[in-house]
Amino acid sequence: MSNDVMVVMQTGGAGWHKMSFEALAAGKLLAQQTGGACSAVVLGKDVQSRAEELLGVSVLVAEHELLAEYSADGWVAALEQVIAEVKPGYVVFPHTYQVRDYAAKLATRMGQVLIGDVTAIHDGPVFVRQWMQGKLNAEYKHVGDGVCFVSVQAGSFAAHEMLGEQLPVTRLPVTGLDAAVIRTKAGEPFREAAQTVDLSAAQMIVSVGRGIGEQENLKLVEELASALGAELAASRPICDAGWLPMERQVGSSGQTVAPKVYLAVGISGAIQHLVGMKGAKTVIAINKDADAPIFEVADVGVIGDLFEVVPALTKALQSRA
Ligand SMILES: Cc1cc2nc3c(=O)[nH]c(=O)nc-3n(C[C@H](O)[C@H](O)[C@H](O)COP(=O)(O)OP(=O)(O)OC[C@H]3O[C@@H](n4cnc5c(N)ncnc54)[C@H](O)[C@@H]3O)c2cc1C
Repeated sequence: MSNDVMVVMQTGGAGWHKMSFEALAAGKLLAQQTGGACSAVVLGKDVQSRAEELLGVSVLVAEHELLAEYSADGWVAALEQVIAEVKPGYVVFPHTYQVRDYAAKLATRMGQVLIGDVTAIHDGPVFVRQWMQGKLNAEYKHVGDGVCFVSVQAGSFAAHEMLGEQLPVTRLPVTGLDAAVIRTKAGEPFREAAQTVDLSAAQMIVSVGRGIGEQENLKLVEELASALGAELAASRPICDAGWLPMERQVGSSGQTVAPKVYLAVGISGAIQHLVGMKGAKTVIAINKDADAPIFEVADVGVIGDLFEVVPALTKALQSRA
């Protein structure tokens, strides 16, 4: 099995998907560990100039008319060909919605599995992914001679600045791809939370999660936020349920915030939430489960029932005013 690593970059609409650069950082780290070389591959139609924006990494450009628009069938067929020609030992993807659509299929087609949603890579290489909403870390090692397919979780690998010189950009025309292969047409891409409310500038945020139980209980946290002069935010299930607007969602598919104080109320601390708020200076968590992963990032933890703690806190703040 080769030690070389190939990173699949994702482009679209306005430019690069920002997670591509995190995948590139993960790929470079992995290549350091395996002693191999790291390259990047860009798929599409007329993507040569886009590919030339990548510095400090050698780039493969896989182009075809039928790759003008994303389709799972097209991407699988093209990547299968690229992998057969380049023969990397490892293929690294950003764990985007698009990648989730086709990467497992590609791995299966090549007799492998996808190690998805990886949050760390240790010497070995050993790939770490989370189980049970982050309560457990599971370690995976690739066995056998086949290609190892890995996708990396948003926010887990810091994207490097694109520094260095232009390394070779090699065209790899995709052959044998015809319209009959492509059985699906992608719909509108999933729109990540719109940003009409800019939580990134907030100094203090009270964020509410599923522990709140019911929509009518939200007034408890609204009162706390108002007593603190804080912005109100939420975990994804609260926004998915329509209890708060999508623009108040914090996390990998919501906003990234860095307030002075982030008060998490009834939030478990899943990785997709943590990546959006781990830049907060002080994290305070209220949760009745002492083992909730949010306590791992909390500076102050209150293990207790939010229905007791939050009203008491609000009352104390109001009586001080
Ligand atoms: C592709 C993808 C993208 C995602 N993007 C995001 C994202 O951007 N943002 C995000 O937040 N999530 C995101 N998620 C979802 C994420 O994985 C979690 O499911 C979600 O963050 C869990 O929300 P929660 O903590 O509110 O709920 P839960 O995980 O259900 O946690 C509820 C917590 O409340 C506590 N609790 C219950 N009752 C009480 C009480 N009375 N008092 C105190 N504590 C109590 C429980 O102990 C528990 O820890 C994403 C998932 C996927 C797959």
